[in-house]
Amino acid sequence: MGGSLKENTIIKKMKALVYHGPGKKSWEDKTKPAIRESTDVIVKIIKTTICGTDLHILKGDVPEVAEGRILGHEGVGVIEETGNAVTGFKKGDHVIISCITSCGKCVYCKRSMYSHCVNGGWILGHLIDGTQAEYVRIPFADNSLYHIPEGSDEEALVMLSDILPTGFECGVLNGKVQPGNTVAIVGSGPIGLAALLTAQFYSPAEIIMIDPDDNRLETAKKFGATQTINNSRENAVERVKELTGGIGVDTAIEAVGIPATFDLCQSVVAPGGVIANVGVHGKSVELHLEKLWSENITITTRLVDTVTTPMLLKTIQSKKLDSKKLITHRFPLNDIIKAYDVFEHAAKERALKVILIND
Ligand SMILES: [Zn+2]
Ligand SMILES: [Zn+2]
Repeated sequence: MGGSLKENTIIKKMKALVYHGPGKKSWEDKTKPAIRESTDVIVKIIKTTICGTDLHILKGDVPEVAEGRILGHEGVGVIEETGNAVTGFKKGDHVIISCITSCGKCVYCKRSMYSHCVNGGWILGHLIDGTQAEYVRIPFADNSLYHIPEGSDEEALVMLSDILPTGFECGVLNGKVQPGNTVAIVGSGPIGLAALLTAQFYSPAEIIMIDPDDNRLETAKKFGATQTINNSRENAVERVKELTGGIGVDTAIEAVGIPATFDLCQSVVAPGGVIANVGVHGKSVELHLEKLWSENITITTRLVDTVTTPMLLKTIQSKKLDSKKLITHRFPLNDIIKAYDVFEHAAKERALKVILIND
């Protein structure tokens, strides 16, 4: 057949979930990623998942995501190839991919604020191609991946890429959950439930889950909520006051990301308490300083740093934390469009986290 050398170069292909602008996505052929920097590795995905953040991107709420971008920032896999400067990982190692990429050297990384790494941060499935694919390139691999101990249940560890450290760091740690305290968690989706599970490390006296979906509240009860409030038919503020002797909660965790749920947190927090925001907000909220100025409260915000991932891994390994119960559905990676459909209709499908398996 002849042809030039260029035409004969084999371009390796793979399948990936590609964003094509608001409302548009497809499962299609893409070029398999290659090492670009000496600190990169290429990971073959074993299991990945879909995040509420991916739905925000598809709605057009995250405009910096370019058309043609492969989505996904969570998953576990096996190392296929390593750059020359990578010392902590080798081909064949099984790894957890952190949703946050961190160089380990910049001013923010030195303060353990990996989320604001000047060379990384949340870039996967956002500013660079992500994990909803057969292969992914991970920059700064030495600081952005975690070894999976042999014999681990890898599916359970997918929850360590994002939702467990997010619920724990942004909700529980920032919210200063303490033994004997009262906690309200507004939003009983995967992130709210991750906060519920990890809040129990500190033995709070009450954890009140608030959500408009009865199925999710039922799940919350099974996961350790002491009280549940369906705010579609109950007055959540009155109910929280009733349950707390009229004073409100020590910690109010916002795990939705809309003005109404942040507002609810402002109404239920007790004097001296903390409002810990976890939700991704696209609209401004009203801050009720006319009520709160004298209440000694703290409001915290945070993008997950994933600095607690090694600790959370130990709690899963020792069975103190059962992260697998957050998984409700499983699909082959090839069926990711169907998986998105289920995840988009989470209430109807009773879906929490969906796992995609790359065989
Ligand atoms: Zn996520
Ligand atoms: Zn850095």
